Amino acid sequence: MIKQLKLSEDYFDLKKINKYATLMTLGNGYMGVRGTQEEKYPSQKRGFYVAGIYNNASIDEPEELVNLPDVMGIEIEVDGEMFSHMSGKTISYDRTLHLDQGEITKDIVWEREDGLRLHFSFRRMVAKHDLHVLASKVTIISLNREATIKTRTGIDGQQTNFGRQHLLEEHLQVHEEKYMQGIYKTTNSYQTIALFTTCNYSKGCQVDFYAKNRQILSESTTLLKEKKSFSIEKLSAIYTSIDSELDQLGDVGLSKVKELSQKGYNHVLHLSEAKWKEYWEDSRIEIGSPNLMDQQAIDFALYHLEIMVPKHNNNLSVAAKALTGEGYKGHVFWDTEVFIMPYYLYNEPHVAKQLLQYRYKRLPQALERAKENGYEGAQFPWESARTGMEETPTYAAINIKTGKRQKVASALSEHHIVADIAYAVIQYYNVTQDQEFMLNEGLKMLKETSKFWLSRTSERNGQLHILNVIGPDEYTEFVDNNAYTNYMAHYTVERTLHYMEVFNFVEEAFQTKAKEFLNRLYLPKVNSNDLIPQDDTFLQKPVIDLKKYKAKQGSQSILLDYSRDEVNDMQILKQADVVMLFYLLPHLFSEEVVQKNFTYYEDKTIHDSSLSKAIHSILAMRFEEKDMAYKLFQEACLIDLGSNPHSSDEGIHAASLGSIWLAVFSFLNVSFKNERISIQPKIPKEWTYFKCPLYYRGRKIVVTVEAGKLFIQKIKGEAIFIEVSSKSYHLIDRLQIDLTSNLAFERKRF
Ligand code: BGC
Ligand code: BGC
Repeated sequence: MIKQLKLSEDYFDLKKINKYATLMTLGNGYMGVRGTQEEKYPSQKRGFYVAGIYNNASIDEPEELVNLPDVMGIEIEVDGEMFSHMSGKTISYDRTLHLDQGEITKDIVWEREDGLRLHFSFRRMVAKHDLHVLASKVTIISLNREATIKTRTGIDGQQTNFGRQHLLEEHLQVHEEKYMQGIYKTTNSYQTIALFTTCNYSKGCQVDFYAKNRQILSESTTLLKEKKSFSIEKLSAIYTSIDSELDQLGDVGLSKVKELSQKGYNHVLHLSEAKWKEYWEDSRIEIGSPNLMDQQAIDFALYHLEIMVPKHNNNLSVAAKALTGEGYKGHVFWDTEVFIMPYYLYNEPHVAKQLLQYRYKRLPQALERAKENGYEGAQFPWESARTGMEETPTYAAINIKTGKRQKVASALSEHHIVADIAYAVIQYYNVTQDQEFMLNEGLKMLKETSKFWLSRTSERNGQLHILNVIGPDEYTEFVDNNAYTNYMAHYTVERTLHYMEVFNFVEEAFQTKAKEFLNRLYLPKVNSNDLIPQDDTFLQKPVIDLKKYKAKQGSQSILLDYSRDEVNDMQILKQADVVMLFYLLPHLFSEEVVQKNFTYYEDKTIHDSSLSKAIHSILAMRFEEKDMAYKLFQEACLIDLGSNPHSSDEGIHAASLGSIWLAVFSFLNVSFKNERISIQPKIPKEWTYFKCPLYYRGRKIVVTVEAGKLFIQKIKGEAIFIEVSSKSYHLIDRLQIDLTSNLAFERKRF
């Protein structure tokens, strides 16, 4: 019943063309290829991205993830007329992304006005076993009469980032009348991209090549007889100056594409599928629920989490839209450390380490930026890309009435990212005990981020305050003492001192100042109504009824009725803020306080950011509001997968997918105390079965909850103590615990 692992589209819908292109992105962490249609549509946004390839089109614009020349598009002419769903009749249509094998299949029966019927079968994949390889295949069968079929495909350098062209053509060539090569260089960052492709056609067609208007193409012409088929297998490879020496790119790529051409599409697919199979065997979470979307959403989240992370290179990170689109220009936010990294931490911790190393390698720029802004230590940028400099655009969208542009506030004041990165370092160490990382990188990051906070305060009435910030809730700008920021800064400094002691890292001047900071930092306390003020003025602002806007959450519809300044002057949250603090630092406040504040702030949160819903769901589950938690979880699952035809046009909500995993994982209700794992599942009432793997300190275990029982299996690592309902069990191999009677026994098999 659980087997599904696919996402299908059963009719062609022009409105959803860009949404599905995003959802059906193929990738392997090295590259991402949007799931666009092979044929052209004016509104369609093609996209092909390689992690780390950034450029700025002009000197005063931020760097953006470059949209590379396309190799997936194919023009098909039938007796001189272009095939598309805009003409003729689509008799049947099925397009499926097979999450379990990393392949898209598309099967269409199409009828031309005069009755000619063709069956098209498209396949496409990005290899998981070889990061540089991608392939596609088209088979066309004439169902009822003969037709002349012409195809055109190759390397199409006409792609842009919404009109901004980032590439210079360096070298286009066809080798041996078969292998097409396009070498390009980014205009300002001087990165080289080398693309190779070749087509294997069925016998009997005429093939020509040509290059013009930034395209290098292969054109085939064939007379397709009734009931006969014609096919093209296209095999491609991409290399860039990030991974190879420039002068070798050409040779490596050419020999790769020759080898691929001999092996063919199916061979490449099988090797890649085998890797996907391993992945799902190791990582799949299973949910037995009457709502099939629960399983589908977690499969979809895991699929994208797997293709978004550049596991091959610790100098790269994950963008807010991963490698699926150009939203947020391919920039890296706190989304990575807080929402995406935990999945890796509890599954493949070495990948979590690499994501932290991406930041560590940009510590010099963060030190420089702090200095420029008059602070000490490290100020990591709100938006980061290749260089580690601040990449947040200076201006937001234009006001078309006034022609003026509004400044983007986040880069100026959204400083909590500095604490978020430190939090991720601490979390990584807790889960892995990786001393080498702490000694070489982690402690330095902690110390420099702490120094930033020490210098970020202002003195008022003998206390230290953090003024003029934006907390996670971006609808409330430039405030003093945002609770999230202050507590996270305090936590950073407190843990830094702790680990400096643990690792015998003495720096007296810093340690003295840090202790003073901890004693004197103002931490917003619970008021007489048991509320923690989001900031100094938040609770004094007027409250309005947000029903109308909550019904359209995610669309920022409040900004159609109110200006940003007006929104700023009311108790309106874009996303989890104080609730985010409860989520990250659960030990700070009593359950009662958390619950009261949750109710208060949930009412005022529109969830206009996709980073919000799942976190609220986690909190609701914590105090057993199971129905509410499940409802919030289900809504979070619809952020990308729901019916809004434009929800994901500019790319996937990567952090939202990370937080779907966070919610599911948190329902397992696992906590860690040194060499002890405590498990007390709190799952939606609807779930009859729940299986989830997790890593902790060298162990990999798989936990299953079913019919009031808990099954725990150790896959890897030494024995460990498991605590359930305050009782302790030694997990050597397998355990079965009755959650109602709390009886347990060790089993060899279940
Ligand atoms: C986001 C900010 C971001 C800005 C510019 C806004 O929509 O909320 O976090 O910095 O866009 O990219
Ligand atoms: C959110 C930020 C987030 C950014 C990128 C914004 O809309 O408010 O919290 O980091 O999007 O996903």
